[in-house]
Amino acid sequence: MKYHSTRNQAELVSPSKAVLEGLAPDGGLYVPSELPQIDFASWLNHDYQMIAKKVFKIFFSDLADTTIKKIVNLAYGKNFDTTEIVPTRWLDSETGIMELWHGPTLAFKDLALQFLPYLMQAAQEKTGLKEDILILTATSGDTGKAAMEGFSGLEHFRVIVFYPYNGVSSFQKRQMLSREHNNVRAIALKGDFDDCQRGVKELFSTPNFVQTVSEAGYTLSSANSINIGRLVPQTVYYINSYLEAVSAGKISYGESLSIVVPTGNFGNILAACYARKMGLPLGKIHLAANQNNVLADFLNSGVYDRNRSLVKTSSPSMDILVASNLERYLYLKNPNTDWIKSLMQDLNSQGKFKVDRDIFDLSASWANEKETSAAIEHVYQKYNYLIDPHTAVAYASQNKTDLSGPTLIAGTASPYKFMEKIFTSLKQDIPADDWQSIQNISRLTGENVPQVIQKLWQLEQDREFVIESNQMSEIIQEEIK
Ligand SMILES: *Cc1c(COP(=O)(O)O)cnc(C)c1O
Repeated sequence: MKYHSTRNQAELVSPSKAVLEGLAPDGGLYVPSELPQIDFASWLNHDYQMIAKKVFKIFFSDLADTTIKKIVNLAYGKNFDTTEIVPTRWLDSETGIMELWHGPTLAFKDLALQFLPYLMQAAQEKTGLKEDILILTATSGDTGKAAMEGFSGLEHFRVIVFYPYNGVSSFQKRQMLSREHNNVRAIALKGDFDDCQRGVKELFSTPNFVQTVSEAGYTLSSANSINIGRLVPQTVYYINSYLEAVSAGKISYGESLSIVVPTGNFGNILAACYARKMGLPLGKIHLAANQNNVLADFLNSGVYDRNRSLVKTSSPSMDILVASNLERYLYLKNPNTDWIKSLMQDLNSQGKFKVDRDIFDLSASWANEKETSAAIEHVYQKYNYLIDPHTAVAYASQNKTDLSGPTLIAGTASPYKFMEKIFTSLKQDIPADDWQSIQNISRLTGENVPQVIQKLWQLEQDREFVIESNQMSEIIQEEIK
């Protein structure tokens, strides 16, 4: 497999190079030069790790089979609290929740970020890269801790994440400020997620900055979903969940299964599109947005317009107006690099662009705060099952569309990460401190507090470090001196 930028098909790079670079030098995103057609029916009795190995052999084809086998076993092992890795909880015969939050940081980001560090290490060996790697990452809350956890203590890697000051949940903040190794660090930026993401992207394309980092002995990379090394691992769980639905007798192979994805940066849903394009018999793929509904508007009208204010919602990981991975989706629908470049130019200069909506093969709707609360309450009352606000946005959004037939909703975070919204939705008092809240959530679920949370509460927290958005470069240089 080779990769090239969404803005230039002529220059092909190896998988290892694409993973180490993160963003292509021309500002585009790396995409696979082809998507293979796979007969997934022959994978029916595979477990999660076997599916992962087969997918990675195709997409990370410059790594040895033994390496892939080794790193898959490291990435998807006892660090997840279930051997199934991603179990599906069927609420009834029509609707299932893919529980993507059984990893160490309790959100779906772990599925890629428990693997990416080992992948980068292998790529580093493969390419003979001598320098250490400095990973800069913007986070709306979940990627930050997942990246810190994945790279924690890993030799030759430094991670600095930027999260929006006052823009993450108190649980997420505690996660990022509690670390076991000094090679990872979180910094609060006065701004929103888009400011964090723009700032990081700008640094990547600032020659002076790249030069300074290089003189300090580092090569830059990214753990955001602009990195193809995050996208590929996310295709694995759609394949796994589809095949599992067949094994469980919910569908027979070939029957369609619709997918609903609570979306922010468009990475998770794009992985579903890739899986379908490779031949997985998924039915409709539905994008769910919160009140920051720029993507839902786009899919319904063809006009992408980021000229609106960002609203803080109870699903902060979706509080995004500029979704990076949309560029990859547009490329998938129309692989014309000049067209992509002109759209991105329009986005930069006017904050908007327009395409013919007939090219889309996704449906979309969005849910407001009231509908999100109602979904949390409804699912709890009817099925005795707690869903987090992001999953609830997806649940509420799918009610506004006709998906018909069995449907899987991507359950992207554990309810422990966003406790306040759960209490208000269930019309319960919000306890004075987080530990009490955790015990109340545990009581609602009828299960013990997850071990990773118990461990988190034993760690000492760093003081929050807050910077202005124009201080990023300076602070990073200070950090790596
Ligand atoms: C990151 C995240 C999302 C959004 O996923 P994208 O890949 O950015 O679209 C949704 N829910 C949760 C809990 C997340 O952490």
